[in-house]
Amino acid sequence: MTELLAADPAGIARAAALLLAGELVAFGTETVYGLGARAADGEAVARIYEAKGRPRFNPLICHYLSADAAFRDVADNEMARALATRFWPGPLTLVLPRRADCKVSLLAGAGLATLAVRVPATAVAQVLLAAVGEAVAAPSANRSGRISPTRAEHVMAELGGRIAAVLDSGPCPVGVESTVLDLAGPPVLLRHGGVPREAIEALVGPVGEATSPAAAPRAPGQLASHYAPSLPLRLEATSVGTDEALLAFGPPLAGAGAVFQLSARRDPVEAAARLFEGLRWLDAEGTARGLRRIAAMAVPGGGLGAAINDRLARAAAPR
Ligand code: AMP
Ligand code: MG
Repeated sequence: MTELLAADPAGIARAAALLLAGELVAFGTETVYGLGARAADGEAVARIYEAKGRPRFNPLICHYLSADAAFRDVADNEMARALATRFWPGPLTLVLPRRADCKVSLLAGAGLATLAVRVPATAVAQVLLAAVGEAVAAPSANRSGRISPTRAEHVMAELGGRIAAVLDSGPCPVGVESTVLDLAGPPVLLRHGGVPREAIEALVGPVGEATSPAAAPRAPGQLASHYAPSLPLRLEATSVGTDEALLAFGPPLAGAGAVFQLSARRDPVEAAARLFEGLRWLDAEGTARGLRRIAAMAVPGGGLGAAINDRLARAAAPR
């Protein structure tokens, strides 16, 4: 049963409590309804992909109460500060490098070294974020491939029964997604949205545009081998050598030079939450121990398994 919560103090308090308990709660912003989870909680974030039926892990936008709070998780720069001062709160998402002590789970950023952050403008979203007291990761609250919802009824129709609650703050005033601007290097517009390109350029000068995969190597998920580990990766391992680092799912194969367990109990939600951490750890540890390769045990393809396998296949793709 999905609770439909009114946007009054009791409803917002309930929504915040559910989020802090690791549950999924959809909430309205000025752009569209977001499907929120506590960003620091990898398993809660994994449940977002599961509820949406997303076939792959694309990076999610993290929502903050203020620019100061956002810039504690990502490294700001002069352009980011200028844009934040002018457009936050509002429908502009900035992609910036994660700080070393960033509290957001790697899964929320799909394993990337950057993170997309935004400060939403509606009073209800702000009171909710204040009550949660930490970052909330939220993609649009629709099933994968469907249209973004701008009313609580849309969310209920698509995700009712799959998430803990919907906080009904009425129709979304902007009704289109946020503009996504990558500021991790020279500015690149990754998605058009609520803040027009001209308004951004009036403040910071010309910005590039991610038109084709070739022109946009920094946009995630477009290059087959994006953010692959430096060690080669072998899939569907049924045995493992002492010169290999093992990504285990369930009882580990014997003999590996290093082991990272995704989920001893073979739980895809737990495995998804630990996937990027595991690849990074095996890459670093395997390299330090002079191992030749990472060997990944098979993960069944149902549910979140499809997204896990998509990411593993990309990491294993020839470079
Ligand atoms: P949504 O799923 O509607 O919240 O959309 C999120 C948008 O932000 C997508 O277009 C993502 O590709 C983009 N995005 C989020 N994080 C990053 C990132 N770290 N680097 C590049 N694009 C990102
Ligand atoms: Mg979407």
